[in-house]
Amino acid sequence: MLTQVKPVFPESIEEAAQLIRDGELVGMPTETVYGLGANALDETAVRKIFAAKGRPADNPLIVHVSCLDEIVPLVKYIPESAKRLMEAFWPGPMTLILPKSDAIPSVVSAGLDTVGIRLPQSEAARALIRAAGRPIAAPSANRSGRPSPTTAQHVFEDMDGRIPLILDGGASEVGVESSVIDATGEVPVILRPGGITPEMVERVLGDVRVDEHVMSPLAEGDVVRSPGMKYKHYAPKAKTVIFDGAAERVIAAICTRYDEAEAAGERPAILGFDEHDFGGRTRISLGSVKRPQDAAARLFGALRELDERGETVALCEAVEATGIGLAVMNRMGRAAGFDIERV
Ligand code: AMP
Ligand code: MG
Repeated sequence: MLTQVKPVFPESIEEAAQLIRDGELVGMPTETVYGLGANALDETAVRKIFAAKGRPADNPLIVHVSCLDEIVPLVKYIPESAKRLMEAFWPGPMTLILPKSDAIPSVVSAGLDTVGIRLPQSEAARALIRAAGRPIAAPSANRSGRPSPTTAQHVFEDMDGRIPLILDGGASEVGVESSVIDATGEVPVILRPGGITPEMVERVLGDVRVDEHVMSPLAEGDVVRSPGMKYKHYAPKAKTVIFDGAAERVIAAICTRYDEAEAAGERPAILGFDEHDFGGRTRISLGSVKRPQDAAARLFGALRELDERGETVALCEAVEATGIGLAVMNRMGRAAGFDIERV
């Protein structure tokens, strides 16, 4: 199959919408990461997503809508707390877990009786959903086990020959996948951290819990409420270690480890902040230390770069695990198998 990449224009949106209606897959920009979209109500089309990604069938997909009205036929009801989160944070990088109606094929929800729904901020994404006239099921557009794509080029690297069209809407602004929030119970639970932070949810609902698996690896027999959390994601080929602590100690520890790795014949690289001086050692930038949102926007690209350059050891600076920093540490932690050294 020939894979075309086209900038977002009314004509390319219409072409993509027709492909969605015809049961095909489209790579689409959103503010979080690029999605691999299909008609959420077409079981055969949705199966193509799992095939193109190599995604395990027990990992559910998020359904994207272009306005609130479109949700009504997709769910049984909307809990009061979910309504308040929608009002506060939609359109935006937040997925809500809701009781699903029979309109959603069980292949989308991986057999669960709930479905994740999101109204994205991205104008291009909403224009595509509107033009298609159908809700769009879309996981991240990477092959399973690869970092999520934050540019159309990343999607092309992973999906060339597997899908007919990728819409290029430039780099994703947030850079990490949506916050997944279960607001069906007494206390809202963040199953996956993202651009809508625990602090933001707490301000609206007065209470919030973060699922215990956000910052820890899974143990044998653990039951996860967010199926995606059980898969080792985003692991670069390089052995990846995170250093956490005061900046001077982190920089010193990273430089020492770098030199040891090099002396042992490895190819080390640092994922570090612009303000920090690593004495000319190879560094892939996580942006400014003052803006954790930079690290969010750059992390997945940096992980891809490690593999492209054939680095064998990756030494990463931690960010503070609050606000968007929690999402960064969740993704970085998983890339490193939660190998975090406190210095
Ligand atoms: P992705 O689309 O690749 O960003 O992955 C979507 C993730 O959302 C899944 O891996 C799950 O962890 C989570 N998710 C989607 N639907 C549900 C659901 N019904 N219940 C719990 N988690 C969900
Ligand atoms: Mg994904």
